[in-house]
Amino acid sequence: GGNASRMPSWIRYALGDARDSKYGATARAVHGNRLVTICEEGNCPNRGECWSRGTATFMILGETCTRACGFCSVATGKPGVPADYSEAERVADAAAQMDLSYVVLTSVNRDDLDDGGAGLFAATVRALRAHKPEMGVELLTPDFRKVVDPAVATIAPEAPLVWGHNVETVPRLYKPVRPGSDYARSLYVLERAAAIEGVEAKSSLMLGLGETEAEVLAVMRDLREVGVTRLALGQYLRPARDKLPVQEYIHPDRFAALEEAGREMGFSWIKAGPLVRSSYHAEEVQG
Ligand code: SF4
Ligand code: SF4
Repeated sequence: GGNASRMPSWIRYALGDARDSKYGATARAVHGNRLVTICEEGNCPNRGECWSRGTATFMILGETCTRACGFCSVATGKPGVPADYSEAERVADAAAQMDLSYVVLTSVNRDDLDDGGAGLFAATVRALRAHKPEMGVELLTPDFRKVVDPAVATIAPEAPLVWGHNVETVPRLYKPVRPGSDYARSLYVLERAAAIEGVEAKSSLMLGLGETEAEVLAVMRDLREVGVTRLALGQYLRPARDKLPVQEYIHPDRFAALEEAGREMGFSWIKAGPLVRSSYHAEEVQG
């Protein structure tokens, strides 16, 4: 964070890091299996709450990302290592220890891998279901740059309940916010995900980076047009001093209005609020 004193009250009060005994059990399951979470790497403000509820979002494919988004605190550079397929089993072990019936899996971008990491996503879903056939699995994947179609072919047979890919912001702000990413490509990934039988496509935006409300509504309409049914809208919070500054704190009433607009557009699962993240309360049937 850094500038907590300038944060509005509705965020400051929510940031209390309430940790109960289950927090420690979550930490042991994650760290004992040498796993990485976006909860920690992304400095997520909800860690106290989520980990105390016994949930976490596993980040596979290593700790080093080949992109360098302006809002993200994950380490960037050349990973220099192949995908570690033992990670699939370790995620399944951690999920069993945590007694999870719904798992959210994400990853760093791995533009260095021939398959973009899709193979490990598929293997991890298989490992989770080998332990627990009825496991609910939600993926939050990168855009698979040059290998979108092969990635879809690899992942589709595993039929995750939800395939998420975050557009993160409005297209005008892609250069500073998501350099190396492309709005149209992200929509294409979502379109392909939504087209898979039984799969719901999900996306997310962070607000407060300088976008207008009209731009946000336009993105929401684009998402519906390619078949996205689940949407998360949250407040951008600067995760580290060297990341993009917050341009604006969006009032909870405006989040509520956007949620209402989203329901009218036909999103069946939508959460909007200052601390909403794409993996926040993802396991709830109705958002
Ligand atoms: Fe982790 Fe998601 Fe919860 Fe944040 S909202 S702590 S990333 S599970
Ligand atoms: Fe962070 Fe961007 Fe890499 Fe995702 S692709 S881990 S948001 S730097």
